[in-house]
Amino acid sequence: MNGGPTAQELLGATSQSSIDEQLERLRRCVRCGMMYRESQNMGAWSCRAYHAMEAYRTPHQPTYQCCGRAIGMRGCVPADHTEAYEYDAEAELVGEAIAETLTTRNARWHYDEKSRRWYVRRLDAVALERCFDQAHKFNSEPLNRPVTS
Ligand SMILES: [Zn+2]
Ligand SMILES: [Zn+2]
Repeated sequence: MNGGPTAQELLGATSQSSIDEQLERLRRCVRCGMMYRESQNMGAWSCRAYHAMEAYRTPHQPTYQCCGRAIGMRGCVPADHTEAYEYDAEAELVGEAIAETLTTRNARWHYDEKSRRWYVRRLDAVALERCFDQAHKFNSEPLNRPVTS
């Protein structure tokens, strides 16, 4: 559980009355360009363009360090679409009002009994971990590795 902004803050929802509007507003994903609504996006992991190491890429690099795929190819970490914010491995705190509004929650949601709060995982943490391993190998082996998938 991180101390970052809650999903509610990320959506810009500040009051109960604006929550429906924020959840249903059409947004465009900065990674894949698809339009989405947060009401169907949270925990769905529908984005196919997420590369964990994209931010560390240099202009001349022909492949992503996280997976060895060529630039522009399909992502290696299943994740939610996003307008700007980069998700991390930690489950994200969901504001109470949003959690109560959304009636469809999948396995990526969980309720913490102790704090009585909802959390949602916005990306596949196992796949993310694999990326860091791959990037570590990439950086310790100067020769290009073959693309395996
Ligand atoms: Zn996307
Ligand atoms: Zn990748």
